[in-house]
Amino acid sequence: MPNFADAALCFDRNATATTLHVVRAADFVAWSAEQSPTIKQWLTTTNHRGDAGTVAWLPGDGANASVLAVVGADPLYALGDLPYRLPQGTYRARGLVQPAAELLTLGWGLGAYRYTRYKAAERPPARLVVADGSDEALLRDQLDAIALVRDLINAPANDMLPQQLADAAASLASEYGATCSITIGDALLANNFPTIHAVGRASACPPRLIDIAWGDPAHPPITLIGKGVCFDSGGLDIKPSTGMRTMKKDMGGAAHVLGIARVVMAQKLPVRLRVLIPAVENAIDGNAYRPGDIVRTRKGTTVEIDNTDAEGRLVLCDAIALACEGKPGLIIDFATLTGAARTALGTDVPALFCNDDALADGLLEASRRVADPIWRMPLHQPYKKMLDSKAADMVNSSSSPYAGAITAALFLEAFVTPSVPWAHFDLMAWNLSTTAGRPEGGEAMALRAVYAHLARRFGTTSG
Ligand code: MN
Ligand code: MN
Repeated sequence: MPNFADAALCFDRNATATTLHVVRAADFVAWSAEQSPTIKQWLTTTNHRGDAGTVAWLPGDGANASVLAVVGADPLYALGDLPYRLPQGTYRARGLVQPAAELLTLGWGLGAYRYTRYKAAERPPARLVVADGSDEALLRDQLDAIALVRDLINAPANDMLPQQLADAAASLASEYGATCSITIGDALLANNFPTIHAVGRASACPPRLIDIAWGDPAHPPITLIGKGVCFDSGGLDIKPSTGMRTMKKDMGGAAHVLGIARVVMAQKLPVRLRVLIPAVENAIDGNAYRPGDIVRTRKGTTVEIDNTDAEGRLVLCDAIALACEGKPGLIIDFATLTGAARTALGTDVPALFCNDDALADGLLEASRRVADPIWRMPLHQPYKKMLDSKAADMVNSSSSPYAGAITAALFLEAFVTPSVPWAHFDLMAWNLSTTAGRPEGGEAMALRAVYAHLARRFGTTSG
């Protein structure tokens, strides 16, 4: 597993480092007034106006030059572009106070990430000394988990098929002493996972269900489920090339639950954790599932396939049914499920659907607390009739152009035992372009919010 945090941050408080003055744009005039005559003169000479986003070297005596970074109000990413804007080296921030310092340090770390498996980074990132009063272990664990999520998503499908995704899950499980059982190919039929088999059987790499268990069975049981579609061609309802181009990211939900599991296990959160990942490639072959096929799911509900590109909810429904058989106190699933969720909320904000208001409120509170945005959307029951089938209990995909994220969530809800609190995240898991702290490519979204909620609810100390 990646040890990314040490490349991005410096955990040695006494390290030799260049001073980095972090000044809010709103405080720039007051900060300037307190500087030495030399620096005041320099600011005047260079006509430095203290605009947010500006970075400048300040003169010092001999080697004591320092850096001024004027930042805006972004609580997380204000320092996110500095790891590659500043020369390689170690920097110590002056002017940061907790709790903001910890979030800004995390944002620096997130900006230091590059995907280097097939092409080396241009240079190592500049490193920031972790501020006093930070939770070092949590910073480390979150950075390493998010680097894992990004690495898994960024891996191309030829090196991240169900086999390799299962290897990554097994490797993570073994690192933390968790068990990992994997049901592969025809064994999915023998063990009653018909939808996972139906979606994945046309791939040269057989479908599988990954089932990780960790922690004391006496602790509160929580189950995380991640959509693991390693590549989504759309199946026989094939996607156009523009829609297919980024579909290596369709296992982003699986990457997220592995990332959360990594933090939960590293932090030794007192829960009984289960992670379920249906891992498939939605491919085309003579045995591919077809529009019009009817599949009897694990739960017994029959589903008529309206569109083979609505495969995510199919592989998830058998995993959700299995999760509910284990009577967990909480289920959270992550899935790159619908374009409709992106149309509604854009690419940065995951949609949350939840059958339990207390759970939803806890997740939204955590989201605000750790600056990890999510937005709740309704499980509007009247729309369920958009999933009516003439030949089966449900269709897998509504033919309406409206409410696609909601009908997908309602499809999943049909497999959740109503008494089990359940949250579903429909997310992008991808940055379309590079911005401060957020390199283009695979991205973790709602991961820190979910962990912060779990830690506050189940942890022995505050999250
Ligand atoms: Mn699809
Ligand atoms: Mn998909």
